[in-house]
Amino acid sequence: QKCLSLIKKTKFLNAYITVSEEVALKQAEESEKRYKNGQSLGDLDGIPIAVKDNFSTSGIETTCASNMLKGYIPPYNATVVQKLLDQGALLMGKTNLDEFAMGSGSTDGVFGPVKNPWSYSKQYREKRKQNPHSENEDSDWLITGGSSGGSAAAVSAFTCYAALGSDTGGSTRNPAAHCGLVGFKPSYGLVSRHGLIPLVNSMDVPGILTRCVDDAAIVLGALAGPDPRDSTTVHDPINKPFMLPSLADVSKLCIGIPKEYLVPELSSEVQSLWSKAADLFESEGAKVIEVSLPHTSYSIVCYHVLCTSEVASNMARFDGLQYGHRCDIDVSTEAMYAATRREGFNDVVRGRILSGNFFLLKENYENYFVKAQKVRRLIANDFINAFNSGVDVLLTPTTLSEAVPYLEFIKEDNRTRSAQDDIFTQAVNMAGLPAVSIPVALSNQGLPIGLQFIGRAFCDQQLLTVAKWFE
Ligand code: GLN
Repeated sequence: QKCLSLIKKTKFLNAYITVSEEVALKQAEESEKRYKNGQSLGDLDGIPIAVKDNFSTSGIETTCASNMLKGYIPPYNATVVQKLLDQGALLMGKTNLDEFAMGSGSTDGVFGPVKNPWSYSKQYREKRKQNPHSENEDSDWLITGGSSGGSAAAVSAFTCYAALGSDTGGSTRNPAAHCGLVGFKPSYGLVSRHGLIPLVNSMDVPGILTRCVDDAAIVLGALAGPDPRDSTTVHDPINKPFMLPSLADVSKLCIGIPKEYLVPELSSEVQSLWSKAADLFESEGAKVIEVSLPHTSYSIVCYHVLCTSEVASNMARFDGLQYGHRCDIDVSTEAMYAATRREGFNDVVRGRILSGNFFLLKENYENYFVKAQKVRRLIANDFINAFNSGVDVLLTPTTLSEAVPYLEFIKEDNRTRSAQDDIFTQAVNMAGLPAVSIPVALSNQGLPIGLQFIGRAFCDQQLLTVAKWFE
């Protein structure tokens, strides 16, 4: 009830697209009954959880924040949603995002941008008042980061205890950093993608947003495991129950600091927190070494060739026949397809379909798509080499800076900006590794800053243990 009333009070954040109040209340009632009857409880029994609106939910509208899917009601649950329900979680609603999860601001969905709850903190408002150039309060608010900004705002505003995001290039870690949360991207193959409406199948992973690392571990424990409906999931990669030790010893760890991540665009505040964090590990006896990930500078371009190519292929299913929107032109099937897609998708999605089809043309395929695949392998090998040299965990920034005001974010060319924002997160998706962003401190403006830990594939437990120690 408390969470539901907070959802209503914070409606102006635009965190939710659909609030599933009736469903949540019914689930809460059943959960309470189980508790009162002394029945065994699930790991998430009675816990309010929100889900990004690109996961299919049986009987509940699933829009991907796109005109294309407005009104689409899936007939089944994504595996992760089903697992949440099986463990007794209460489904609070579906959260806002960039259309089809393409973006890093949560400003590009058809339901409008998501506002960062930290925009309204006392400290931040005081600071803004001192700034003579500051806009008035109605338009002066911060982005959440994205594309899982609705999930991040929902957890950050206490409307739920955890939320599912998706992470293809940073979409869970980036908003977590901007909203002062833990944002966890599990190893590729650890958690099923069945029912997650795809952006880039070879990089998509369901992500977890929580207020502390232990909560993320509990949710991961409920979600991880093989799924016959997702052939990329692996068998028994983690021990269950999935718990983190309460006291960790970091003195035997080797922490790698990738030197290529020290980019000129990095804000001085983030940089100084990053080096303080490294010092802290050192003072606890851990070995902290500089490592090189030499292909880092190719990662953004490589990601975009691969992302748009998979997007072009994935989006072909939206033809106005089977899902959601269909325009009423009936001159010919082709004209109906074209008009449906023109009306259904925003510029970002159409732009990516166009670029992807260009890279996939017969005369470009070898030169772009195949080359990008090879570069992707080199990027993944960079990480393997670092881990083979003895590094246990890499420590990096999550984002270039704290959250920026919306008006600033939309001033620049949004697409160039989004690409840059993922500079520390995208390579991880191309390599399929686990990574977690945790909040470390507040900036001078009073806004949260996150740092990222990256682990070896399927060493998610070790990764979270280190993050918990640091938290
Ligand atoms: N910002 C990246 C993109 O626009 C990543 C998105 C994501 O992780 N879903 O593709």
